[in-house]
Amino acid sequence: MKISDDCVVSIHYTLTDTQGQTLDSSEGRDPLSYLHGRGGLIPGLERELDGRAKGDQFDAVIQPEDAYGHPHPDLIQDVPLEALAQIDNLRVGMQLQSQGQDGQVQVLVVDAISDEAATLNANHALAGEVLHFAVSVEEVREATEEELQHGHAH
Ligand code: ZN
Repeated sequence: MKISDDCVVSIHYTLTDTQGQTLDSSEGRDPLSYLHGRGGLIPGLERELDGRAKGDQFDAVIQPEDAYGHPHPDLIQDVPLEALAQIDNLRVGMQLQSQGQDGQVQVLVVDAISDEAATLNANHALAGEVLHFAVSVEEVREATEEELQHGHAH
């Protein structure tokens, strides 16, 4: 069975950056299962998987526009330190969570700290990165009714 929309696909993958450093891997864990064609994976990786079958192994290089996009300057802002006074041990590289108006949790990374303000960056950590995937297709099956209704794999 070939991968097409509304199949449930299980893959093992290793994600590395352009320097060859591993960013994420399913090695030692269960394979990642997702419902194909529903935006469960980044678009560039779903496109590479389209038409593949169980047992296929391949490498893919995905540009930022087909992955997590480019960083947006709008998502980087300076926040006065007084506004962050309740955070213990504020430091560069720290991840903070804030809740948006729609109730969605947003992750902010502290990019810099000056005497008066901290620079908080809400861009995805992989925004602007070219991603290198090594993928092996472990299983391809039809989705159940329930999975199709929910829009994700179980
Ligand atoms: Zn569900």
